[in-house]
Amino acid sequence: MDSAKRGRVEAWLQYGDDLGLAPYFLARSGPVVSLSRPSDPSTSMDMPSPAKSAVKSIAATASSMPGAPSRMAGSSLPIISVAPGPTLFEAAERVVGETLEDIRADLGECTRCRLHKARTKIVFGVGNPKAELVFVGEGPGHDEDVQGEPFVGRAGKLLTQMIEAMSLRREDVYICNVVKCRPPENRLPDKDEIAVCSPFLLRQLTSIQPKVICCLGACSAQTLLATNQGISRFRGEWFDFRGSKLIATYHPAYLLRNPAAKSEVWKDLQKVMAVLGLQPKKR
Ligand code: URA
Repeated sequence: MDSAKRGRVEAWLQYGDDLGLAPYFLARSGPVVSLSRPSDPSTSMDMPSPAKSAVKSIAATASSMPGAPSRMAGSSLPIISVAPGPTLFEAAERVVGETLEDIRADLGECTRCRLHKARTKIVFGVGNPKAELVFVGEGPGHDEDVQGEPFVGRAGKLLTQMIEAMSLRREDVYICNVVKCRPPENRLPDKDEIAVCSPFLLRQLTSIQPKVICCLGACSAQTLLATNQGISRFRGEWFDFRGSKLIATYHPAYLLRNPAAKSEVWKDLQKVMAVLGLQPKKR
């Protein structure tokens, strides 16, 4: 291509990019596209820095894929990037009428991935099987592994306070994780572990059919939204997830390290409360 023509093409592509249309020229079967390094404030010490990450958002929109989660109307922010290939949701069959007990029974004494080797107890999930609100964390920590219940350690106590501040009780909501066994040394779950375990999460969500799913931290948000983007880029926004509304907020463990972020999380929870028609608890 001669340089004049090349210049015109580049200008045209830049124009599309500025309009947020890129990468209309990328095939979905191509390599993973993420111009932003995933920065998860819940699992790394990186603070959210939307301004710093001079990222040209790439518009491989989740909403353009059948069955994939989509950003709710009225949202003006750029679109999150999506990994190639069929999403978890396209790949997963919807099992109609399954109860949580059915799913737990199918999980059994799971040995599907290496996490089973070091676990004490499987942490399936706890709460109301008809909950309007489901919280999804990352994976069990030490206390959860010992007790077999999600969010019972320090971060769990903070989550309980958050739930109560919303005028709910733990028993009113459902709480679960992306992976059901504790990753050793509290490391992040690996991709293959998530791939094996997350279909059980999907089945739990399908069984419960909550009005709202609140993802706690990047791992659950990135898993359910099938994105690599850092949570700080889309936290507090609404997405449609298979008929439920999904919002992501920071993980309580992150808040223990960064109490200043509590006000952001409270804003997110207030959005959830508005959807569920809840008033904050009177002190
Ligand atoms: N962190 C999580 O993500 N899940 C738990 O159950 C406990 C801590």
